[in-house]
Amino acid sequence: MKEIRNIAILLLGCLLVFSCLQNPKILLVREGQSDYVIVISDNASPSEKYAAKELQKTIEKTSDNKMPIVSVTNAPNTKRIFIGQSSLTDSLLSKTYTDNMSGEEFFIRTVGRDLLIVGGRKRGTMYGVFTFLEDYLGCRWYTADVIKIPQKTTLSIPSINVRQKPAFEYRMPFYTEAFDRTWATHNKVNGYGADLPPEVGGKVKYAKGYFGHTFYTLVPPEKYFKKHPEYFSLVRGKRVKDRGQLCLTNPDVLKIAIREIEEWLCEDPDANIISITQNDWEDWCECDSCKALDEREGSHSAAVVAFVNAIADSLGEKYPDKYFDTFAYTYTQKPPESLKVGDNVIIRLCHMQPSCDSHPLQECERNAKYVKHLREWRKKGGKLYVWHYVTDFSHYLMPFPNFNAIRKDIPFYYREGVSGIFCQGDAANGGGGEWAELRSYVLAKLLWNPNIDVDAVIDDFMQGVYGKAAPPIRRYFDMLHKIVRNPEMHFNLFSEPDEVGYLTPKLLKKSHAYFAKAEKLVAGDSVKFAKVKLAHLPVYYADLWFQAQRQINNNQPVDQAMVDTFKQIVAENGIEYHSEQANVEAFLKTLSPEFRFVHDFNIIGPFDCPKASGLETVLPPENEINFSKEYRGVAGVKVVWQKWKEENGAYVDFTKAFEPDSIGVAYGLCYIYAPREFSTQLGIGSNDGVRVFLNDKLIHDNKVLRKATPNTDMIDVTLREGWNKVLIKVDQIGGNWGMYFSVADAEKLLSFSTDKPS
Ligand SMILES: [Zn+2]
Ligand SMILES: [Zn+2]
Repeated sequence: MKEIRNIAILLLGCLLVFSCLQNPKILLVREGQSDYVIVISDNASPSEKYAAKELQKTIEKTSDNKMPIVSVTNAPNTKRIFIGQSSLTDSLLSKTYTDNMSGEEFFIRTVGRDLLIVGGRKRGTMYGVFTFLEDYLGCRWYTADVIKIPQKTTLSIPSINVRQKPAFEYRMPFYTEAFDRTWATHNKVNGYGADLPPEVGGKVKYAKGYFGHTFYTLVPPEKYFKKHPEYFSLVRGKRVKDRGQLCLTNPDVLKIAIREIEEWLCEDPDANIISITQNDWEDWCECDSCKALDEREGSHSAAVVAFVNAIADSLGEKYPDKYFDTFAYTYTQKPPESLKVGDNVIIRLCHMQPSCDSHPLQECERNAKYVKHLREWRKKGGKLYVWHYVTDFSHYLMPFPNFNAIRKDIPFYYREGVSGIFCQGDAANGGGGEWAELRSYVLAKLLWNPNIDVDAVIDDFMQGVYGKAAPPIRRYFDMLHKIVRNPEMHFNLFSEPDEVGYLTPKLLKKSHAYFAKAEKLVAGDSVKFAKVKLAHLPVYYADLWFQAQRQINNNQPVDQAMVDTFKQIVAENGIEYHSEQANVEAFLKTLSPEFRFVHDFNIIGPFDCPKASGLETVLPPENEINFSKEYRGVAGVKVVWQKWKEENGAYVDFTKAFEPDSIGVAYGLCYIYAPREFSTQLGIGSNDGVRVFLNDKLIHDNKVLRKATPNTDMIDVTLREGWNKVLIKVDQIGGNWGMYFSVADAEKLLSFSTDKPS
């Protein structure tokens, strides 16, 4: 027995000696002292020089040792950290080692006492250096302002031999939090929005920064419509100048677009991709030839693909390294049946049609159509990029637990052969949305390597950013994600707080409790405390949103102390928007007791009018108010004034009042009595566009496609003494249809009526 044990000990000893030989430690710095130098080649690329400096700076911060940066000609014979390929790295390794290395690929290797970080000259070496700092020195760039550089006077590394390249060539979390230059380079993102000039390796660049919806930039209607209406889409028998698309089968349109693109490339020769993309609304061309093509191919994407293929064909030879990109978005999401996509064409499939962001793409029936289209596009040729939405665009600040989906969707895209992903957060409106920093971080890591352990990344981030407060915040995060694992709990990128199902009063209370605990744990650390408060913000937002509803609809007062806390966090973090359409100011106005929401109206509609010009068309209620007269409405149906009295709500729902599917224009009318001349503000929320007339004068005109959110538009007015007539006109482009109307009246001076004053 003893003998066996001795043999075991002996074996274990051998194993230890063996593993030490296998993994000899290299001491880069010992007690703050080092003989190592950083070596760059004489013709190092800008990003390699930047990376060498960052390495020098970071090692100095961690160990207090500033390593010299020298060129290969002055390099010593040993103890060298090579940054980028050079004659010396070629002699240490076979030259073939770097052959075929793409611009973002790298390897990290130890050879003897040397360390080599060598990669593609564009950004590869730089990414290698930042990967080395993370994986071997424990550094992290969690957020633009939370960076972890461990303090160690002795730096030792094991023997290393790793090689990496990104899973996706285009990687971008579209959050302002991800735009910061240091953050973006260190976390290896390379797309639109990030501050990545050539000196840090640049990025994947869309020509002239035109990123999407470029049809009218290619062929501007202001320039061509008057002489050539046939260049623009024919919609219900009429060529459309505003809010249309292009007639994509017109050969002159193709010629103009090609000429314009050549100009773009002349001005922006380094661009990688040229965006040839439909406008952000429908109204595709219905002329005979566009229609025939679309019908033959079973999708409106046919005319678009044929057009972009033709441009790519014509310019491909002259610009062999450029890609020509278009959208598969809303009405073009479905691929054409037989048309193929050119080799130098990128299809950017927009993740819009699926209607569930709670569940992973592959696990929810609501996403089946999108997944089917994705797989069909993949078979069409060209490259496939994805435009993936990762926030709630109606409520950037609302708790939106979609990490269950994100963590599986990015790997899914990788398996399906997608080459690039743009993850749209709230950056278009300045940032600060729910988990913006965490999402940016996790997405950047997933886009580089979809096989990472997402839980470990989240834990690491929370530990780094929240410190001692991390455990309760992680419990809050897990609580939400556990609830929405319920296969019945679907939500999407436009969901309202009262639609998602998980934002119950009980959950909000529990969430506040987790954060109260978290705040206590970092009470002495103002930096961490501020980050915990920012993480808490979505819970305040949701809570206050429900309180605002109760105030608007039932006159229940809002907790003003909570409003103050909300205001403070928003101000400290410079957050301007709470949704794609409305700013925080508007949200705060729904919380203010000053605004009185009008519930009772006279309404009439729907009136027929050309779809895109409903607001401009003058209809009878703008000329006369006659409650007993019949007017001609949509499809010749007679319409009359009716009373809208929604006892429990301030939202005037036109889809409820009229035929559910009618498209047209409706009016709301009420009268306000002011005991004296009174300067105040009117608040409007409308779906979609709106015009407001005060005492028969047009005072507000907003042609827009949006959800109705109270107090989105604020109008300064002076009410005259006595009765004032307010007529509100709202058009309907599709989907929901309705309005909110409020008046600032802190002193409760005003009274309201639906009766016409005599
Ligand atoms: Zn056409
Ligand atoms: Zn679902």
